[in-house]
Amino acid sequence: MSSQVLELTKQLVSIESIDAKKDKLQEVIDVAVKHLDGYTIERFNQNGRPSILAYSGNKRPEKFKIILNAHLDVVSGKPEQFTPVEKEGKLYGRGVNDMKAGGAAEILVFKDLAKTLPYPIGLQLVTDEEIGGYDGTQLQIKQGVHTDFAIAGEPTDYGINNKAKGIVWMNVKTKGIAAHGAYQWRGESAILKMKKALDAIEREFPALTKEEWRTTVNIAKLDTTNTTYNKVPDNCEMKLDIRFIPEDWKTIKQKIEKMFEGMELEFLEFEPPQLTDENNSYVKALQTSTGTVTGTPAKIIVKHGGSDIRHYNGIHEDGVTFGPIGAGLHSDNEWVDIKSLDEYYEILKNFLLSLK
Ligand SMILES: [Zn+2]
Repeated sequence: MSSQVLELTKQLVSIESIDAKKDKLQEVIDVAVKHLDGYTIERFNQNGRPSILAYSGNKRPEKFKIILNAHLDVVSGKPEQFTPVEKEGKLYGRGVNDMKAGGAAEILVFKDLAKTLPYPIGLQLVTDEEIGGYDGTQLQIKQGVHTDFAIAGEPTDYGINNKAKGIVWMNVKTKGIAAHGAYQWRGESAILKMKKALDAIEREFPALTKEEWRTTVNIAKLDTTNTTYNKVPDNCEMKLDIRFIPEDWKTIKQKIEKMFEGMELEFLEFEPPQLTDENNSYVKALQTSTGTVTGTPAKIIVKHGGSDIRHYNGIHEDGVTFGPIGAGLHSDNEWVDIKSLDEYYEILKNFLLSLK
């Protein structure tokens, strides 16, 4: 078995499947599909970004019990990173860890087991996770793909990531009255008005100086169109990057509106957070299977950034990210632990066979 996960990982890594090369996105999907003989393959494509859904039988079940989700796109890398290299028990290359190794194991475990499992299981392969997942996972969900539980094989070192922060990108605008700088009383400074917003941010979301599980507000930009000294600025705009914990999901919008009362608000992104109860029965089963295979049950971990799982959580379907051991995602030194490839396959196999 071992060499199969490793071989498929290498094969996938050698394809430069970045968003700028749409033909490579198709190629990486086609390589994966070659391993799925005998399964129904539904193909999707939006904005040139292909994805597939594989399952057994000719009709898509209304709801899968399990969906194995993998993104086969990667962020750009140096040319040599697309030639995978084995060194001292590690496999190096762009996307080995994020997440072609996890993807390869998912593809193979699906191929080996899906036909014999007593419940519906889907394999979802997408090519746009790194740019948001709207044309892959989200598109498929919009077209009626549902599941009790989804697992994305993102790199987690065998941790089970059941929650991640949501994202708000927004602009806050204040308006004032322009006047000559020497005759200040005739105008009203939009920048001074913005002080109220800055104070509210400091009060409600003081900046973190160490890692903590809290909602954060990053003031990314503070600007006015005014460029001269001798003018009272009549406009000011602030760009905010807000990362909110799932615990604040219900209240965050209200809180923002209250903090910036009377100011013009523009919401550019409003991404749901990820949250699946850590007592969820599938999470428990995955912990147990990890323990059975590796000797150590999987820990629950949190992540500050999201994944495609948020698209499921956004429609109140459960899911986690869970993947092999490695490091250096998006860096020049990305690697995955070769031993963990087989182990990860075995954990998934044990998990899938443990479900009724
Ligand atoms: Zn990833």
